[in-house]
Amino acid sequence: MKEARWRDCVRYVQSSMVNAVGALYVQEAFAGESKRMVSDLIRKMQEAYIDTLDELSWMDGASKEKAREKVMAIKEQIGYPDHILDVNNHKLDEEYAHLNFSENYFENILENLQAGAKKSLKKLREPVDPNMWIIGAAEVNAFYSPNRNQIVFPAGILQPPFFSKHQSQALNFGGIGMVIGHEIIHGFDDHGRNFDKDGNMFNWWSNYSAEHFKEQSQCMVQQYGKFTWKLAGGQNVSGISTLGENIADNGGVRQAYKAYLKWIEREGEEPRLPGLDMDHKQLFFLNFAQVWCGAYRPEFASQSIKTDSHSPLEYRVLGSLQNFGAFSEAFKCNPGSPMNPEVKCRVW
Ligand SMILES: [Zn+2]
Repeated sequence: MKEARWRDCVRYVQSSMVNAVGALYVQEAFAGESKRMVSDLIRKMQEAYIDTLDELSWMDGASKEKAREKVMAIKEQIGYPDHILDVNNHKLDEEYAHLNFSENYFENILENLQAGAKKSLKKLREPVDPNMWIIGAAEVNAFYSPNRNQIVFPAGILQPPFFSKHQSQALNFGGIGMVIGHEIIHGFDDHGRNFDKDGNMFNWWSNYSAEHFKEQSQCMVQQYGKFTWKLAGGQNVSGISTLGENIADNGGVRQAYKAYLKWIEREGEEPRLPGLDMDHKQLFFLNFAQVWCGAYRPEFASQSIKTDSHSPLEYRVLGSLQNFGAFSEAFKCNPGSPMNPEVKCRVW
């Protein structure tokens, strides 16, 4: 199916002029205090990670100490790079100063390609800028970078249903809290764990902890490998190539829940939402599931089950929650039922 022309054009501008689009987007859709609120949530998720370490019997004290150091050393980027809104900073103008656009779409693409190539070549002889943003503010995504030990949350994902200062904390923790937890755990999944707190490839694990990490992970390889995706012609998910994301999904929702319970302890229980017969714990899980709601075409499903490092959306929800006792408690799932199986996998 061919996309509407305007969609192609908008997508092209979005992906090739991320800072110009980002500036317009942030002015329109990102409230000033969101940055501080998200930063506060990141602190809470770092704390939840550290609190969780006490529950893990597969890891020894020395490796836990290293993990603590690493999680506290994580750097963050929230919303957008400051210079794109700063009227006194000309970096944004300079970024596009040499671009000469005309009314010819094809020539504009060439112009852009040339500018992009020049920019990359220039970087080659410059020192690495650790504060450089690698993605646009308008993107609905989040990142962990192992060789910077850094998490990034562009303004695009700091929106409902992930996050809003107007929605209840149950929804914020189940949404953006879980995403923050997910990105943090990427620093400790099967790939990220090979890097230290400064982003250098270095084995900081004791043999004991490393061995047990692999054992704990193996449970998820088996679990997810059994999921079959109807839309992709009944093919099985690859438990091996989705392992890192599954570890992050499982740990992320568990630690966000922990952080939310701690928040309730301090601030008290929130009022229920009108018209919904659900308590705040159920709402947490409802929003967790809600943010992964989506649709695929079968062709895309067949392709992504072979190439995507994430599990299909429905299994990102079901897989993580099958492993989490607090879910079956909140929804009263009988022991042995699909969402409360006897064997549960857990890494973090
Ligand atoms: Zn991820």
